[in-house]
Amino acid sequence: MLHKKIHFCSQCGGDEVLMQVPSGDTHARPVCQDCGHIVYQNPTVIAGCIIEHEGKFLLGKRAIEPMLGKWSIPAGFMENGETVEQAAVREALEETGATVEVLGPYSIFSVPQMNQVYIIFRARFVGFEQPFGDETSEVSFVTKDEVPWNELTYPAIGQILTRYINEEDHGQFGLYMGCYEQGLVHPFGNANPCIN
Ligand SMILES: [Zn+2]
Repeated sequence: MLHKKIHFCSQCGGDEVLMQVPSGDTHARPVCQDCGHIVYQNPTVIAGCIIEHEGKFLLGKRAIEPMLGKWSIPAGFMENGETVEQAAVREALEETGATVEVLGPYSIFSVPQMNQVYIIFRARFVGFEQPFGDETSEVSFVTKDEVPWNELTYPAIGQILTRYINEEDHGQFGLYMGCYEQGLVHPFGNANPCIN
């Protein structure tokens, strides 16, 4: 789904919004035939983190649809006015109640079928600061042997946790970049000068 169908123009209320390549543009976009308003639709960024603590990491159980009752690392849509690191820290606090410190990027992957980009960090658990939010019914620190593999939200979460566990065993974390079909793990140290 490259573009959502636009039925009414947000500027003039006109009901004839057609896909066209605007003058000087390279992509077809919804264009209002009454006032010429062009709707730019771009991918959304989802930020999240693997929260590490004493050989375990923190998972949350979803209290809402989609994927009600399934487990995941905390992640959610980035908001305007924040950095992607701030978004990951905020989502961790909202979904698990935990304060975390971002350690470094861990996975950057695109889902062009959904017009989404996921940016997942490794983070250090600092402490529980508040109760977890309404989106979560339970949180739990799990070891690599306690991961509820059959109760994870999405296959991509299982893949990222599998790689994380494997790399933790070897004491060296890489940076994954890719998409659903293909990807590559880049060797990467723990220190990242871009974070702080
Ligand atoms: Zn219009």
